[in-house]
Amino acid sequence: MNLNDIREMDRDDPLAALKAKFDNSNNVIYLDGNSLGRMPISVLESTETLLKQQWSRDLITSWNKHHWIDLPTVVGDKIGRLIGASTGQVICSDSISINLFKVLAASLSQQQGRSIVLSTKDNFPTDLYMVQGLTSLLGEQNCNLKLVDETALEENLSSDVAVLMVTEVNFRTGARLDIERLTRLAHDTGVLVIVDLAHSAGAVPVSLDDWQVDFAVGCTYKYLNGGPGAPAFTYVAKRHQPHIQQPLFGWMGHASPFAFDPIYQGSADIRQQLVGTPPILAMQAVNSALDVFDDVDIHAIRAKSIALSELFLALLTQSEYAQNLKCISPANALARGSQLSFDYQQSYALCQALIDRGVVADYRDPSYIRFGFAPLYNSFEDVYLAVSEIIAILKSDYHLQDRFTVRQKVT
Ligand SMILES: *Cc1c(COP(=O)(O)O)cnc(C)c1O
Repeated sequence: MNLNDIREMDRDDPLAALKAKFDNSNNVIYLDGNSLGRMPISVLESTETLLKQQWSRDLITSWNKHHWIDLPTVVGDKIGRLIGASTGQVICSDSISINLFKVLAASLSQQQGRSIVLSTKDNFPTDLYMVQGLTSLLGEQNCNLKLVDETALEENLSSDVAVLMVTEVNFRTGARLDIERLTRLAHDTGVLVIVDLAHSAGAVPVSLDDWQVDFAVGCTYKYLNGGPGAPAFTYVAKRHQPHIQQPLFGWMGHASPFAFDPIYQGSADIRQQLVGTPPILAMQAVNSALDVFDDVDIHAIRAKSIALSELFLALLTQSEYAQNLKCISPANALARGSQLSFDYQQSYALCQALIDRGVVADYRDPSYIRFGFAPLYNSFEDVYLAVSEIIAILKSDYHLQDRFTVRQKVT
C-alpha cells in the first residue's frame, strides 16, 4: 500500500472534515488522544466569552443569566448521548477518583451482608486505591477488594460480592470487556455494577441503559477532548436515584442548596452526586468540546477507529524491523478499544525518539508503548507516517541514543 492509496482512504472518510474543528497547528502526528485529547477550536472562543463577557461583566449574576448553575447537568446529558444514557442520569463533576469513591460507598451501603468489591488486577490503579481507601474508612468487614484476572471475573461473581467494579477498556492493553454480559451475570447473583468508561467515552459505542449498568464514571479529557484535568462524569441509573445516597454531603448535592438548611437533605435526582461549587471555566471547556460530536454517529467513530488501527497493524507487521514489537492488544479489533499497545524492551526510548521526530505516543511501565486512535482528528495518512517513522527509527537504531532514556516526571 502506498501513500496514494492511503490518501484515497482519507478522501473516502466521512469524518475527515472534523479534523478542521481542532487546533492542529503544531503539525505533530498525535496518537495520544487516549491520554489527552487535542483542543477543539471552539473551546478557545467559548472560554474567552466566559472570561470577557460573563465573569468580567456579569459576575455573580452569570450563575442565572448564563446558566452556570445548570452546566453540570447540561454537560452530563451531552455525555449521556455518547454512552447510551437517556437524560437525567449523567452529571459532570469532580474527578473519576472522587466519583468512584461516591458510587462505591453508595452501592456498598445498599448491599448489607456483602463486603466484596470484585475487580481486575490490571485495573487502573486509582480505581483500586479508592476501594482500599474505603476499606481503611469502613473496615474490612464492610469493604474488601478482591482482584482477579479479566478472564476470571465471571466465575468469581457470587453471593458474597457486593459490587463488580470494572473498566471497560484496559488502559494498558486496550482489551475490552463484555459489559453487557458481565452486568447480566452480576445481576443474576445480586451484584451491583460500576463501570469505568475512561477509555470508552467518545471512542466506542456504549449502551448503559440497555445493558442495565447500575453506575458508571469516566473522564472528559481523553477522547472527549475537554482539556487537561477537565471535570469527570458520573452515571446513576434512574431506578437507583430515589434511594441511593453518596456520602460526600456537599451543599450542591442538597435538595435546595439555597435554603442554607443546617441539616443535609440530598437531592432526589442525579444532582445528589454534586459536592461543591462546579469549576465553571473547566466545565465550559468540556461543554463546547462536546459540540464537535453534535452530528456525529458514535458508530461511525468506531468504524474509523477500527480501520485506523487495522491499517497501523498491517503496515507495522509488514516490516522486518518491527518484529521485536509484540502486540499485547487483542488481535480481534472488536475486542479492543481505540488503542494498540506493544511490549518492547526499549519502549521508553522508542517513545521519546518518536516524539523527537514529531509523532506523539506514550509509554507505560514496565515496557509498553501505546498508540491511541482518535477518529475525529487522526487521518489514515497520520497512521502511515507514524508507522514509517517507527520503522525508520528501528532500522537506524535512532532510539538507542542516551538522551532518549532519561525518565521525565510524567511518562
Ligand atoms: C484516566 C483514568 C483515570 C483517571 O482518574 P482521575 O481521577 O480522573 O484522574 C481513572 N481510571 C481510568 C481507567 C483511567 O483510564
